[in-house]
Amino acid sequence: MALSNALQIALMPGDGIGVEVTEACVAVLRPLARRHGLGLDFEDLRAGAMAYRDTGTAMDEATFERAKAADAILLGAMGWPGIRYPDGTEIAPQLDLRFRLGLFAGVRPIRALPGLPTVLADPRAAGIDLVILRESTEGLFAARGRGEIIEDREARDTMVITRATTERLSHFAFDLARRRAEKRGRPGKVTLVDKANVFTGFAFMRKVFYEVAAKHGDVAAGDHYIDAMALDLLRRPWDFDVLPTENMFGDILSDLGAGLIGGMGFAPSADIGEGHAVFQPSHGTAPDIAGKGVANPTAMLLSAALMLDWLASRGAGPAWAEAAAELEAAVDAVFAGGLRTPDIGGKAGTAEVARAVVERLQEGA
Ligand code: ATP
Ligand code: MG
Repeated sequence: MALSNALQIALMPGDGIGVEVTEACVAVLRPLARRHGLGLDFEDLRAGAMAYRDTGTAMDEATFERAKAADAILLGAMGWPGIRYPDGTEIAPQLDLRFRLGLFAGVRPIRALPGLPTVLADPRAAGIDLVILRESTEGLFAARGRGEIIEDREARDTMVITRATTERLSHFAFDLARRRAEKRGRPGKVTLVDKANVFTGFAFMRKVFYEVAAKHGDVAAGDHYIDAMALDLLRRPWDFDVLPTENMFGDILSDLGAGLIGGMGFAPSADIGEGHAVFQPSHGTAPDIAGKGVANPTAMLLSAALMLDWLASRGAGPAWAEAAAELEAAVDAVFAGGLRTPDIGGKAGTAEVARAVVERLQEGA
């Protein structure tokens, strides 16, 4: 990482509401950076479905190289109905970033914002604070682009679980649980989510996971079958902490988790590898509401907080972690104060949320 004065952030707004929530996010990040004396330079990079429509390339090599050279990538959302590659698949350069930069750890925090209604009536739902850790480079998604249809009779996709990636993901899970435990002042727990009773790949994953767990004796380790987890995420989500899992399971559980805390507009994510990371809201481009200024930018703002925190963990300095915590606290305070976005039945549009967060940051000074 180029730890000169300013860190370089590659901005990839993408398509649809990706563009709108990115703009709102930058409007919050600029004053936040000023307040904390953070050197933050943004470079706008064009990629996605509209880029493909206009140039014939979803993300050209020069763009990829610039994103790769940046200290972090902040991405809106990409893709659009009706704009597809010639083979009929969706325009998804964000997936190419994941594979090409080796971003194996998909961090999806699921945290109930204070004061927000959740779908669960139980008062303990206010304490939902877990992380789904989605392996993002292999598993069932290893089959992407490689599946086969045999004589129109049968189709096959192959799931791949490797020791190397499972070890890295497991270490990542325990390190994350340890950091969260320190922050929250309560013991951490890592629960592997799999289907080890049926599939060889998952049995192998579980074996490797416990080998790694043995090296992290200070953090509790457990496991859960995916079907039981689907039930328990509804029944007692407050009991879980860090949940590493296979790619496809993580994809599904992430949406379930987002549903618990107000929907996709509140679900941030980070895709982290050895030296690179992409931060983006878990949602897509939402064509149904794009261009109306009503998209909820919260997931994007919380993703930016994850980015600042990750930069701090990579040596950018404690001011970056403080800025991350302050951003998160400002978002919390704005919703605790009664602001409501249209996706949860309110009226506050994209820019209004950004303005409220900036005001809150200034009040907190
Ligand atoms: P993808 O395939 O990229 O995951 P998707 O088809 O799952 O996309 P999303 O764009 O993630 O769809 O969102 C589904 C719906 O949820 C949207 O059509 C929109 O109505 C709503 N939604 C998603 N994100 C937001 C947001 N930030 N604010 C408000 N509503 C949102
Ligand atoms: Mg989706």
